[in-house]
Amino acid sequence: MHEPAIDQSSLELRARLDRLGRELGIPRLGVARVERYPEMARVREWVARGYAGEMDYIERRLDEREDLTRVLPGARSVIVVAVPYDTGPPDSRQPREPGTGWVSRYAWGDDYHAVVGERLDALVSALQALFPEAGFRRYVDTGPIPERLLAERAGVGWIGKNSCVIDPELGSYLFLGVVLTDLTIAVDRPALDHCGTCRACLDVCPTGAFPEPRVLDSRRCISYLTIELRGPLPVDLREGVGDHLFGCDLCQEVCPWNQRSGRPLATDERFEPRPDWYAPSLRDLLILDDTALRARLRRSAMKRAKLRGLRRNALIAAGNLRDPELLPAIERYTGDSDPVLAGAAAWARDRISS
Ligand code: SF4
Repeated sequence: MHEPAIDQSSLELRARLDRLGRELGIPRLGVARVERYPEMARVREWVARGYAGEMDYIERRLDEREDLTRVLPGARSVIVVAVPYDTGPPDSRQPREPGTGWVSRYAWGDDYHAVVGERLDALVSALQALFPEAGFRRYVDTGPIPERLLAERAGVGWIGKNSCVIDPELGSYLFLGVVLTDLTIAVDRPALDHCGTCRACLDVCPTGAFPEPRVLDSRRCISYLTIELRGPLPVDLREGVGDHLFGCDLCQEVCPWNQRSGRPLATDERFEPRPDWYAPSLRDLLILDDTALRARLRRSAMKRAKLRGLRRNALIAAGNLRDPELLPAIERYTGDSDPVLAGAAAWARDRISS
């Protein structure tokens, strides 16, 4: 492929981006060229193997994922930002209040789409003021964008065997954001893989979601099961789901790159854990009515799972905790008109009763 010339202006723009990133509280920022990278074809193969589960939206937009000029005509460069969200201990393997479930740490604070989106908007505004004729399109986990591949290409971090992007300094608890632009910006060197012989993430997964390193079978992944899947949780995976209510952090918790002392943590106070969102009471999730539960989840990323999904997950978690005090809340659902909730409730009740 023809390599565009790196001229002084694209180098200056790259340096200016670093300054803008620092001003906007973006600790890691990288740039990659927009092109058809060979790795992009892997998503197509991944979908063909059925690993996307019910996430049809990925298959529907594969052509755009592979050719980002369909997303932004004339796109030449992609700016990838990483914002850490880790606010520190505890992790899911440490004891918590009885009768509570685990929420993935990315959802302990305000919904990241809004928080990271705000910073990207500020970045785009600053660039637009400098280049009024230029085109920009920004995404936070919502468009047909291969964010992790682009993050690796832009030198932000490598894709670990757990399929997360790992920055050697920040670890992997990162929100990624992407700005496509038709500007030509000097690119960064791709990140290098530092997993080595480690396989802690592959071995810890209780549902066996990694058929091979860097390949995730979503259909077995606790994050997918508790957030994306709309139907019943497969019976053979329910025990492995444990007390996870929304998402799972296990494959990141065991990663040595997340355990290094002195690793920088989140600086945005909006990522601080909210009492109702970190380790929620299963009983509350099961007895609150829709209005009260919706109010409790306002500004939370947990809304993605829908109220029904959260209640289904709470029933499965309650069954796995085997806490008889949760039986009255579980039994409210055994005759529910929704077969997904009724089935989960019967499973939980039988598990506790046995
Ligand atoms: Fe790589 Fe080990 Fe981290 Fe897995 S746990 S992503 S193998 S370093």
